[in-house]
Amino acid sequence: MVQAVPARPKKKQQARRPTPVDPALRARARAILRRLVPAYPDWGPTLEFSNPFELLVATILAAQAQDERINEVTRTLFRKYRTPADYASAPKGVLERDIKATGFFNMKAKALRAMSAGLLERFGGEVPGDMESLVGLHGVGRKTASIVLGAAFGVPAVAVDRHVARVADRLGLSRADPRGIEESLRALYPKKDWIKATWCFVLHGRRICRPTPMCPVCPVNDLCPYPKKTKALPAPRTPRSRPRRAASGRSG
Ligand code: SF4
Repeated sequence: MVQAVPARPKKKQQARRPTPVDPALRARARAILRRLVPAYPDWGPTLEFSNPFELLVATILAAQAQDERINEVTRTLFRKYRTPADYASAPKGVLERDIKATGFFNMKAKALRAMSAGLLERFGGEVPGDMESLVGLHGVGRKTASIVLGAAFGVPAVAVDRHVARVADRLGLSRADPRGIEESLRALYPKKDWIKATWCFVLHGRRICRPTPMCPVCPVNDLCPYPKKTKALPAPRTPRSRPRRAASGRSG
């Protein structure tokens, strides 16, 4: 009889050293957030959801799509698909058709099926409320996990999408990869402000500090190292000039 080999204990993930923070940078970062909060009183998630699972689904769908479009799709989708089992067992071609309007629907359908199967196999169909478990699910990275933790569970988290990355870079708060930016912002702000900072940066990146920034009307112009980055203010958006598909959605 072959003796069972005891499973090797998993290597503990090495804790990253906390980033040393320059007090002047921290003071400026906090002044920026104090300014952004009243400038964006509507900060918070714009994806519609009524439970953590719906938010997880919506956030996966929101990749490379605008939140408004995702909400249009999920209003119908969430009536038809209510549980992870509904997605995991959806016949090939049907789920794809139901989410087609979100773009990249083959890839997204595959991610939804695999994520739902993971929830059923490992978590009894419930969305876990911790980072490690969430990122273990197929198609769920730290950004998606942070959005779900913050918006559905109220767990402090910093989500770094392309807007947050752009704003953090231009404001000179962090010039790293998404994981590095997440760590920098976590070090610059108290935990209680992580969710608020995420959404204020997202909205600032969407509305003012866009790829072509609107520095003359920026609420943190005097706190920014690049207050004159705008060469010319972009033309106001009109239905005719608006691109059919935005570069990124909220959840990014
Ligand atoms: S001043 Fe310009 S570059 Fe700086 S944060 Fe504002 S919009 Fe962005």
